[in-house]
Amino acid sequence: MDIDIQLMRGRIPEPLPIPATGAGTAGAWVEFRGVVRGEENGLPIAALEYEAYEEMAVREMRRIVEDLGRECPCLAVRVRHRLGVVPVGEAALSVGVAGRHRNEAFALLTKFMDRLKRDVPIWKPRALALANPLGGVRPPSAPGVEQVLARVRAGCRPFEAERVALRDAAGRVLREVVCAPEDQPPFDRSAVDGFAVRLDDPADEFSIVDDIRAGDWRPRRLQPGTAVRIATGGALPCNGLQVVVKEEVQLAGARVRLLRRDSSRNIRSRGEEARAGQVLIEPGTVLWPGSLALLASLGQVQPLVTRRPRVLHVATGDEIVPPEQAPQQGQIRDSNSTLVRAFLGSFDVEPAQLRVADDRAQAKAAMGDRPQAVDLLLVSGGASVGEHDFTGVLLEESGFRIDFRRTNTRPGKPLIFATREDGALAFGLPGNPLAHFVCLNLFVRAALEKLAGLPERNFFSTAVLAAEVRSDGDSRETLWPARVKQAGGCAEATPLPWCSSADLTALAAANALLHLPAACQLLSAGAEVAFASTSPPA
Ligand code: AMP
Ligand code: MG
Repeated sequence: MDIDIQLMRGRIPEPLPIPATGAGTAGAWVEFRGVVRGEENGLPIAALEYEAYEEMAVREMRRIVEDLGRECPCLAVRVRHRLGVVPVGEAALSVGVAGRHRNEAFALLTKFMDRLKRDVPIWKPRALALANPLGGVRPPSAPGVEQVLARVRAGCRPFEAERVALRDAAGRVLREVVCAPEDQPPFDRSAVDGFAVRLDDPADEFSIVDDIRAGDWRPRRLQPGTAVRIATGGALPCNGLQVVVKEEVQLAGARVRLLRRDSSRNIRSRGEEARAGQVLIEPGTVLWPGSLALLASLGQVQPLVTRRPRVLHVATGDEIVPPEQAPQQGQIRDSNSTLVRAFLGSFDVEPAQLRVADDRAQAKAAMGDRPQAVDLLLVSGGASVGEHDFTGVLLEESGFRIDFRRTNTRPGKPLIFATREDGALAFGLPGNPLAHFVCLNLFVRAALEKLAGLPERNFFSTAVLAAEVRSDGDSRETLWPARVKQAGGCAEATPLPWCSSADLTALAAANALLHLPAACQLLSAGAEVAFASTSPPA
């Protein structure tokens, strides 16, 4: 497929020139233009601004096109995305697809648009206000919750898959389609303990000619007037039978008399659960006890699953001491290491952990060459811009390129996110424990899910507030600890008190984070609020 992707600062040519395709005759040229609307988040605007990690964005778009090309074979794809300020009415994006037939071209185009929005690091840092298009209020350029999530996800490449034994597969993400290798169940089985007789035999007394237990395989035709004793799970000896439950018969030596007989056959028929070839588990499914049992029943004992990430966690700070140690004046117990370990444990990941002082050389020496051998490096503390905050440099020295250093969210503003050529990721997490909790639960979770090959999902649902939330109108988006429960068919959120990003006390009860928009001052009881659950995904 002939692929040409360009990011451009000037106007996108309209229409795109239709490429001459050497590979075959295009019967269809489908072109989509995304035009800037005069409104953003309900407010009139004059223009939007687009930014991108250019190299990464082009690479990612090419990867997506190549990927989709396998599913929807087309001849040529042209993508033009504009960066910088794009006035209302002008195209920010143009995608053209040449295909042999219109169906493939439409399909590739639609799928590409979905993936573009989701996976490519292009974002809109600001909308220019209508009244004063070039000097309008500049929204903060630090990313908010959704932007952080998008940028983290864009920096993740799902890990390769491996085959593991069923006993090691709990909690892993399946990376293949699992079909029934044969009809399920593979033969007609009795659903009860009883006596199999011919459906077309009206007699009420039979001589017993065989005794079939579960595991036996003794096919035979039944003559009129004969019955077979059969156990639950036993293979029926032929077609056209029903099993009369043993509680409804009277036995006399080798004869059986039916006391009652209705139309129920009491048979688990071959193929009633699934037909051979039927898809039973989709890729992207987390393997939990139920799905593992299903795999076992199908004989799929080496499922293909995402490999586990190798994680190194480094807690920094002169003031932190192990939790089992009594802190001296001025010291505090390290709670973040326990939090990180438990959080990763819910993903079945066990990190290597270190505790180091606020000394870059010492931290480097303690880490040795371990950062080179990990997929995810988490550094707690030192992510801010204080004199002793060296996490950014430490990550760069470990070969990472910093994507962003702060967010427009709280708690958790000084969050560093970085990526490395080999696909490894690093987070410099703000040391404050509540900020830690928030960043792990949203941003590190997004990375772990994407790396594991899980489909991207919206973390936020809606709840009704059980009590008002009074905030201080801070210009950042706030993540507020809360307890969410189901009440009368809807989710009800009780906001929990917290006094600073160092305050862990709310975490005993918190199972969710409310998402308050920037500048929020009051959300009344009964109002709807977005929340993200802090439990593992269902
Ligand atoms: P920092 O991000 O290093 O500036 O730390 C911010 C705040 O978080 C400081 O008050 C630290 O004492 C606290 N802090 C840092 N690391 C930890 C930790 N591992 N456990 C608990 N608190 C911490
Ligand atoms: Mg520190």
